[in-house]
Amino acid sequence: MEGKPMMRGTGRAWIELDMNNLHHNLNVVRDRLPGDCQLMAAVKADAYGHGAVEICRELNTLGVRAFCVASVMEGVELRKHHIEGEILILGYTHPGQFSLLVKYGLTQTALDLDYAELLNGFGEKLAVHVKIDTGLRRLGERSENLDRIMRMFECKNLTITGIFTHFSAENDTETAKHFTQEQLEHFHHIRTEIEKRGFTRPKAHVQSSYGILSRPDLAFDYARIGRALYGTVSDLGDADRYGVELRPVLSLKARVSAVKTVFAGEYIGYGFTFIAPKEMKIAVLAIGYADGLPRSLSCGVGHVLIDGHKAPVLGCACMDQTMVDVTDIEKVERGDTAVVIGKSGGAEIRARDVAEQAGTISIEVLSRLGTRLERIILGEGK
Ligand SMILES: *Cc1c(COP(=O)(O)O)cnc(C)c1O
Repeated sequence: MEGKPMMRGTGRAWIELDMNNLHHNLNVVRDRLPGDCQLMAAVKADAYGHGAVEICRELNTLGVRAFCVASVMEGVELRKHHIEGEILILGYTHPGQFSLLVKYGLTQTALDLDYAELLNGFGEKLAVHVKIDTGLRRLGERSENLDRIMRMFECKNLTITGIFTHFSAENDTETAKHFTQEQLEHFHHIRTEIEKRGFTRPKAHVQSSYGILSRPDLAFDYARIGRALYGTVSDLGDADRYGVELRPVLSLKARVSAVKTVFAGEYIGYGFTFIAPKEMKIAVLAIGYADGLPRSLSCGVGHVLIDGHKAPVLGCACMDQTMVDVTDIEKVERGDTAVVIGKSGGAEIRARDVAEQAGTISIEVLSRLGTRLERIILGEGK
């Protein structure tokens, strides 16, 4: 890797992005998309902690031309880094920032009729996707308010190129299947009415990763895909069940900054939570909860991998550092690498494992990874 601007893994704590795995996951998802359905990559929250610019750049070279983010500033960031294609803002944009939509060529979600009128009142043409609430009870004009929905289409300054809704289901229970079917029917009804009333048929999108896995039979114009691209659908039950094999894109690693001996009866870390029962060898890692290592992994709940061996967390994880037990690991030195998420030797810690220990889901752990982490791109250029 000579001549690369950044030497691999010289940082204190870093993310490695395996772009070959991203490419693999993209192919898996594309294979499941019906005929003309276009993939819209969900890259909000810094691409679920992976790094939105890095991920979008790679996706652009792989032919992905549509993205969705949560906020206008996330969209601006992508444009400043020359990301091409449609960028849909899924969430609320303050009227004081409407000018950014025009300046950076971003598409805004019309969150309901009142918001559509606010957008319309801005006075310049805005590209808009209309959001319909078919049951999630989050954003969107309620699907039963047909007249209010149609009034959005009469807003002169809005160029409505899309209409969408979002499923509530995340598993295959009977309740979930039934509810999804109801949501679909509400959505179809609205689309039929739009055509009946002579409005141009906007592009429709409904499915996210789970929807594509569980209902590949549905044919819409876009699918909004996050988790599946990052290889973290495991939270959604068993991905194998859907006959797909997805691979994690992200690994999280940290430097061993010191190795030392602690004697029997000594405390380790803040708050006197851990007393060494015997003489121990500990490693201090240059990663802490400010980097996104959940503090709930403290006191032996979680571990890292060093040279393929488990090193449990000792005492409380700190903001910038974490102490781990390396008593039984033979050769550990300052400068070695500890794996928080990813593979080491024959062992692996998945984002899902960390999430289970922390009592949450993979994408919460990933999306909270700190801004201080360096990002190293592997498998670039295919
Ligand atoms: C985040 C998000 C998605 C992507 O969901 P995944 O489960 O990660 O594929 C799709 N649609 C909306 C509205 C979202 O907020």
